[in-house]
Amino acid sequence: MIVDYIKFKYHPNLAEDEILIRGEGICQCCGKKVTEYIEQDIYAKENIDCLCLNCISDGSAAAKFDAEFVQDAESVSDPEKRDELFHRTPGYLAWQGEYWLACCDDYCQYLGVVGIEELDQFGIKDEVLREYFSHSDSYPQDILEQHLKKDGDMTGYLFRCLHCRRYRLYVDAN
Ligand SMILES: [Zn+2]
Ligand SMILES: [Zn+2]
Repeated sequence: MIVDYIKFKYHPNLAEDEILIRGEGICQCCGKKVTEYIEQDIYAKENIDCLCLNCISDGSAAAKFDAEFVQDAESVSDPEKRDELFHRTPGYLAWQGEYWLACCDDYCQYLGVVGIEELDQFGIKDEVLREYFSHSDSYPQDILEQHLKKDGDMTGYLFRCLHCRRYRLYVDAN
């Protein structure tokens, strides 16, 4: 079966992301049987462990459970954009909860987890690290070069601006 994925503007690679669970479940919002769903990183009063992508993308799950799917983000001035990110976009898995980066007064697209090796493979290592180290809250360069791994205790989360196309990196450690 070919699944026609719902497109999330800020989360274009959701199909490859670990936050998407493939398995049978019943969506707690619409009650439909689903074969893939979002389980984690749902910030709501109730315990929610199964929401289908439809109910996330149309905002019905966020409204029904008074939920947010993203823990925190850099600030963006347009409240409509904030609404789309927090209430209609699935989060991603991070050590301490996701933090969504922004650029050009809009949220960036989240592309996936990376380590130094992947950045090198994509040919964007220097560009990404230069941008990363321009921020004062960055980890030291030697630590990052040594420990940043896709599956390690220090993970990189790669973002890209929808407007100026600049890459940005968020780093989180166990
Ligand atoms: Zn649903
Ligand atoms: Zn930008």
